[in-house]
Amino acid sequence: ELVVDAGRVEYDDVTFGYDDDPILEDVSFTAEGGDTLALVGPTGAGKSTALKLLLRMYDVDSGSVTVDDRDVRDVTLASLRSAIGYVSQETFLFYGTVRENITYGTFDASDEDVVAAAKAAEAHEFVTNLPDGYDTMVGERGVKLSGGQRQRLAIARAMLKDPELLILDEATSDVDTETEMLIQRSLDRLTADRTTFVIAHRLSTVKDADRIVVLDDGRVVERGTHEDL
Ligand code: ATP
Ligand code: MG
Repeated sequence: ELVVDAGRVEYDDVTFGYDDDPILEDVSFTAEGGDTLALVGPTGAGKSTALKLLLRMYDVDSGSVTVDDRDVRDVTLASLRSAIGYVSQETFLFYGTVRENITYGTFDASDEDVVAAAKAAEAHEFVTNLPDGYDTMVGERGVKLSGGQRQRLAIARAMLKDPELLILDEATSDVDTETEMLIQRSLDRLTADRTTFVIAHRLSTVKDADRIVVLDDGRVVERGTHEDL
């Protein structure tokens, strides 16, 4: 059972490949509890892969990933996953109501909790404008939502879960500046006071991170703060 205390996450000499090809080589970095650590680098660098190891979607070939000094391989998958919020690159909505999509992964959420999470994620307004509000069916076969709207529902889901650790994998959907501002504002609320990993292609999008790690071709090539780099 993983009980997150400080929320310090350490990658120590991690090497991993999906097959014989190494994708990550000797990758080391540490996120202190409550900090935001940005993983930056070109497409294919291994950023998403690195954080999938924290979620234990895959296991390292060598090295270790620890949370508060506990190896993620030594704790139950259920307790690990319940401690982590994951806003992935491909925002996943299933065929169901908006409410069901927001409460996915959380037990005993009241309607008030759902609305509060949606408000914090800047999603409440567009949801109330949908034909059936929170009861509108979305996902495949449901009402089509824009990339920015799906992203805000994913943020609301993470907000409701209120996890100790958070992974934000930059969405590729291009959104207008207004929506981008709304998303940024909701993300700022979500990342406050919890250990957060942000994945981005460009340095400019992660200037507020406490620490930046630049990955290229599976290796750490630079690290520091936004001013350093
Ligand atoms: P992007 O910025 O485009 O999201 P990324 O830095 O997140 O890129 P990854 O998705 O981690 O990159 O992929 C790193 C490498 O691993 C790529 O060469 C990719 O093709 C390969 N890869 C990713 N997922 C798998 C998989 N499930 N099986 C095999 N190879 C994979
Ligand atoms: Mg990626």
